[in-house]
Amino acid sequence: MSKEYEVVIGLEVHVELNTKTKIFCGCSTEFGGAPNTHVCPVCAGMPGSLPVLNREVVNKAISVGLATNCDITRNAKFDRKNYFYPDNPQNYQISQLYYPICRNGHVDIETEDGTKKAVRIHEIHMEEDAGKLIHDPVTDDTYVDFNRSGVPLIEIVSEPDMRSADEVVAYLEKLRETIIYLGASDCKLNEGSMRADVNLSIREKGSEEFGTRTESKNLNSFRAIRRCIENEIGRQIDILEDGGQVVQETRRWDDEKGYSYPMRSKEDAQDYRYFPDPDLVPIVVSDEWIEEIRNAQPEFRDAKKARYKEEYDLPDYDIDQITGSKKMSEIFEGAVAEGADPKKASNWLMVETMRLMKETGIDAESLRFSPKNLAALIKLVDSKEINGGVAKEVFEKAVFSDDLDPVKYVADNNMSTKADSGQLLEVVKKAIEANPKAVEDVRNGKQKAIGAIVGFVMKEMKGKCDPGEVNKLIADELSK
Ligand code: ADP
Ligand code: MG
Ligand code: ZN
Repeated sequence: MSKEYEVVIGLEVHVELNTKTKIFCGCSTEFGGAPNTHVCPVCAGMPGSLPVLNREVVNKAISVGLATNCDITRNAKFDRKNYFYPDNPQNYQISQLYYPICRNGHVDIETEDGTKKAVRIHEIHMEEDAGKLIHDPVTDDTYVDFNRSGVPLIEIVSEPDMRSADEVVAYLEKLRETIIYLGASDCKLNEGSMRADVNLSIREKGSEEFGTRTESKNLNSFRAIRRCIENEIGRQIDILEDGGQVVQETRRWDDEKGYSYPMRSKEDAQDYRYFPDPDLVPIVVSDEWIEEIRNAQPEFRDAKKARYKEEYDLPDYDIDQITGSKKMSEIFEGAVAEGADPKKASNWLMVETMRLMKETGIDAESLRFSPKNLAALIKLVDSKEINGGVAKEVFEKAVFSDDLDPVKYVADNNMSTKADSGQLLEVVKKAIEANPKAVEDVRNGKQKAIGAIVGFVMKEMKGKCDPGEVNKLIADELSK
């Protein structure tokens, strides 16, 4: 009979911080420049160059630490992690081993099935990213691009507190959401601004000791993480069931093929010969500095959810959707501040915006339209200047793609559906005359028959009128 097993998972998460310049020099961190155009002697590792710490990196690292309930280290230091690789020009990476900037935190998570728990954070440290090697398969040459060399990273190391793929995804989503709310990174798994390494082991249920773990790398989507975990659980249980032993090693997950293979074992693990970096002074973090950062922290999602319920009385579903993105909630709050009705603003965001996002592949954080223009659009509908169908058209063109002023757009393109009331009344009278059967039915109590008359008017007016108003005019006429 097979035994009962428990999965133990701890994560190492790298996040690229979105500072304008690199961690130890003034080079741009911008992604996508021509190779080796964002490079200077410091980030190219030239002899004699000296690093100067970017204060903004420390600010952002501390802000993430505070948001994840960490203690901030008052005397933090940088260390050299020595290894030799062509994308690492100094032959060492500046990182933190002995005195990382943040320690002993936790993140509260809730899984799909409603289970709540705290995942402890061992530490968060700052370090520099490496360059990038580019292989030319045709010539078999390898090139190196140092644009990424020196881009600031934080590494968030959890305790082995997670017990399922669901918990891992909930933890990563919570981290992602928190860091995006802080504005410290865009945390895109598919672009590498957030990278998660999964340490996983299996033990018999009830056992006090942890089993031997593997570390899985190359996970660039939540789906890949989930699939990798499920696969690795199966692989390790099979080994244990066969009476074997799990080998401590680093494995690479191939999401396309759906399997993993060993990259390196503990035996070939490097000795990094860490030592304090003599070129950088300790970072002394004062109470005032921490308070300054604490006071600038934004309202996080949980607090926002509670406030939306209280202040706007929106359905839970709406609240969940809107606060799921910082950008979306900014647009929502801005539109409401401009006088838009909360439920109407929420509907535009959840229905049309989400539909268009899906269609165009734009994610919420890249939305460009302004709250002011959303509020103006809602006003155009409320004042019956345009009807719902036209509003959608305007939203897509004017508001979604270019953030044009909808009022101006409607005027310039002659899109107003507000009919001249004298003209509309004439058409209504004509419609009544042209539809004697429907008129008779309505008079005999078949309210639905009014549809035919409304339809006639809408057609005559080429859609440029408000169906509600048409209904009312017809009813008025018929009751005369
Ligand atoms: P190393 O120094 O070898 O990288 P760490 O102690 O820093 O190891 O742990 C790295 C990550 O592995 C942490 O997130 C930790 O929670 C996790 N971890 C450690 N031991 C286990 C284990 N037995 N099973 C699962 N995860 C583990
Ligand atoms: Mg480690
Ligand atoms: Zn540089």
